[in-house]
Amino acid sequence: MSDIIQLLPDHVANQIAAGEVVQRPASVVKELLENAIDAGATCIKLLLKDAGKTLIQVIDDGKGMSSTDARMCFERHATSKIQKAEDLFNLCTKGFRGEALASIAAIAHVELKTKQENEELGTCIKIEGSKIISQDFISTGKGTSLAVKNLFYNIPARRNFLKSDTVETRHIIDEFQRVALAHPNIAFLLHHNNNEVYHLKNNNLRQRIVAIFGTKMNEKLVPIDEQTDILTIEGFVAKPEFAKRKRGEQFFFVNNRFIKSSYLNHAVVNAFDGLLENGSHPSYFLYLTVPANTIDINIHPTKTEIKFDNEKALYAMLRATVKHSLGQYNVAPVLDFNRDSNLDTPYHFNAKSVATKAPKITVDPNFNPFKEATQKEIHFPFKRQKQNENWESLYTSVAVNTEEKQEELFDNQQEIKTQKTFQIQRKYLLSSIKSGVVLINQSLAHQRVLYEDFLESITVKEANSQQLLFPVKIAFSSTEIEMIYTIKSELENAGFSFDEFTKDSVTIKGIPVSVTESKITIILEELLNDMNLEVPDASFSHFDIMAKSFAKTLSIKTGTQLSEKEQEGLVNDLFSCKAPSISPFGKPTFKTLTLNEIDNLFNS
Ligand code: ADP
Ligand code: MG
Repeated sequence: MSDIIQLLPDHVANQIAAGEVVQRPASVVKELLENAIDAGATCIKLLLKDAGKTLIQVIDDGKGMSSTDARMCFERHATSKIQKAEDLFNLCTKGFRGEALASIAAIAHVELKTKQENEELGTCIKIEGSKIISQDFISTGKGTSLAVKNLFYNIPARRNFLKSDTVETRHIIDEFQRVALAHPNIAFLLHHNNNEVYHLKNNNLRQRIVAIFGTKMNEKLVPIDEQTDILTIEGFVAKPEFAKRKRGEQFFFVNNRFIKSSYLNHAVVNAFDGLLENGSHPSYFLYLTVPANTIDINIHPTKTEIKFDNEKALYAMLRATVKHSLGQYNVAPVLDFNRDSNLDTPYHFNAKSVATKAPKITVDPNFNPFKEATQKEIHFPFKRQKQNENWESLYTSVAVNTEEKQEELFDNQQEIKTQKTFQIQRKYLLSSIKSGVVLINQSLAHQRVLYEDFLESITVKEANSQQLLFPVKIAFSSTEIEMIYTIKSELENAGFSFDEFTKDSVTIKGIPVSVTESKITIILEELLNDMNLEVPDASFSHFDIMAKSFAKTLSIKTGTQLSEKEQEGLVNDLFSCKAPSISPFGKPTFKTLTLNEIDNLFNS
């Protein structure tokens, strides 16, 4: 039999490699920004069109390339950053694999312009799908401009797989922020469709964080600063009272490289022990510096995961350092250095002064929304006219006679003045129905009720708005402001009314009737979070996300005690819904147990 194995042509090999390196426009952004940094740039511009799908261009003032290098850089495994295998264990550049440009050039239209400082003329190279189209001398400034157009033009499957512009832009902004946070001493510009999104001057770290996340961030930051033989930790954690309900602003950098590490995250969260409300996540910006030869960056193609030689020691130090700083800033209730002895390290705080002032702990006084809320504030929003309709479905689902009226559903409710509903563990409502019992999850049920109400008010465009006595000004980062602005009209339909948009704040003068003033910030923050999450397809509608987000944020939670009246209100509202049996997120809202089923429990 003849031989059948052959080497793949370069352009095919490059396309395959691109599958690993380039998942979406944001991957290209990351690689190009990193190349600019490695080239020693002091100012880096990122220009985007259509979420990077049409154009991603990075312009730097770095050292540029000779015309031979300009051609070489598109070859696979072509790099100036390492020469021998040992170099892998002592990396101080972002790149080293030498495959980013080769991969990108295989799947896009690429135009490179570059010039070194001492050269008269620069080089311009155009490549399409790994094929060099042209190479010319040009006159251009020092540095490099790399434009990547029509990403995935030759891989329709990949191109179709890209998400909406909102989602892809979010991914790009995430990468941009990570790089910008890792290098506060470099100026960065980001333009999207000719609008300026970021203009970051060269700064110190605190200024950089504030420039990205908005002025309100400044007061939240507690500085971290610790040095030992094996590790330096610098940066900031946000005070616990500013913890977020979603993971968001959590950044680890190791030797100036953004990394993901659930292990180190655990160490930080652990240091907040007891200071965080259940389920909230602290924000942090932590910069670890370790000797380059004690980490392995090579374990992940996009280099966001790394391996540490002495993970346990890092964990213990990180935890202790964060804990210590929180204590110094008077935000930790107890300073406790009890460490797991397995994690013990030659590390002491003995030299440090311990906070002597009585610790301040802020407790959220609004924990039980019903304590201070009036009936209007607890959101059972609409007078439900169609109340009885959906009880029928309950009948059907438990297979009893649908002719019966609602009153007969509950046992003897009029005659003996017993309760119709019972609350169990502040979580479920139990109600007796003719055929047996129904068990309702109060939080999920309320989500369903709110969801349908919001959807109705948003889409029917009949805003139920209440004017605020005093307009509320809320600070947001510039990206957040941009997002709010793009969904302004939908928010107005939902009952919000806006006064003024500035670069980092928005003034609100009216809110939906179902929202209380104290919840405005959280409801908007949650909404932005939810909008940032992956959205599966193009049929995606802001309305639906918005209604779901509001419903989730405003629904009564497990742990909330409900009065008899509130319980009944909720049950009635639920069964007036169009789809009472599932929550907006697809979970069952109630379960029934028929008499038969109950009998069977006792007959086995
Ligand atoms: P790597 O960054 O892993 O070396 P790349 O494919 O990203 O691989 O880049 C290949 C080479 O091209 C780099 O090693 C560098 O020498 C050169 N290069 C890429 N981008 C720039 C730039 N913006 N300025 C100067 N040189 C660059
Ligand atoms: Mg690179």
